[in-house]
Amino acid sequence: MAIRIRESSIKAWSSQSQRQFGIDLPLKLEITSAAEETFLAMLELGIADGQLETAAKLAGLKIEAAQALLAKLAPITEDFKPPIATAEARKLPSNQRKHFSRRQASTVFVPKLDRFGKLLVHSLAHSGVGQIITNDSSLVSQLDCGRLGYSIDEIGETKISVLRAEIANAPSHLKLDNRMKWLDYSAVDIAVVETSGAFQPSDYQRWLSLGRNHLGVCFSDSHVLVTGIVRENLPCLGCRELNKWESDESRKILGAQIAGITGLKDSSSILFATAVSGQKIVNWIDSQVSDQDVEYWSDGNLRSKTERINPQCFCQQGPSEI
Ligand SMILES: [Zn+2]
Repeated sequence: MAIRIRESSIKAWSSQSQRQFGIDLPLKLEITSAAEETFLAMLELGIADGQLETAAKLAGLKIEAAQALLAKLAPITEDFKPPIATAEARKLPSNQRKHFSRRQASTVFVPKLDRFGKLLVHSLAHSGVGQIITNDSSLVSQLDCGRLGYSIDEIGETKISVLRAEIANAPSHLKLDNRMKWLDYSAVDIAVVETSGAFQPSDYQRWLSLGRNHLGVCFSDSHVLVTGIVRENLPCLGCRELNKWESDESRKILGAQIAGITGLKDSSSILFATAVSGQKIVNWIDSQVSDQDVEYWSDGNLRSKTERINPQCFCQQGPSEI
């Protein structure tokens, strides 16, 4: 096994004698001798298979000292170059190989290849998510073009073919699934539920019934909401709507009129929603980190929300009551 300090790791000096790896969560190493410095430089370049002892000798370092140095650097040394961009690789938790395999083995469902879906596919594919399923077989029309959308030259092509070409160099497969069989969806690790105005049961019912994790994105006229990963025994997307009814009675009548309404997506909400949902999905795949809902408002404010289960919601009813 060839060992080297991850190429993607940021390398800097934090003092005359201290080497720093990474910015936000740095690993700092005090260098106490020229031999250590030489050995470290070798490690940054890479030490070939079985050559650790020779490298230590060349550097003038005892093998025990070299091994101790290696142990300290363990979180950032690896014999692995995942086929994704350096910036993406840098964000993979240690151990990179394990997390990259996990991302490669995962399947995410992105319902539509509209501007949001298109950007999200890019983000997931370049983060190493192995399979992305969509049921959007539509053609690019004039309405899909323009800012953050498709190019005018692509009008008439299927969105999926355009997108497949765009992510050709990412380690990901974009699959069309228009059969809509429930069984096909049981392989999905996380499904994205994208809507505007309000969530309706038809948007998320299948994921709830199959017990598949999902993430809701809802564009409104002054904000966009990205939910945490919705899992069994946690508040569902329906609970979120019902909780709103409690604070605003009119929402009951309003909900059906605004669900799925078009024309609410501005560029900055789309970009925010893409970045946040992409990050929430890969964080979940990597480490099952659960977190809160977040809203991004047009005045630039962010609000996080913790939702509660609504006892009136159908997710709380027994099978016989449904
Ligand atoms: Zn519920």
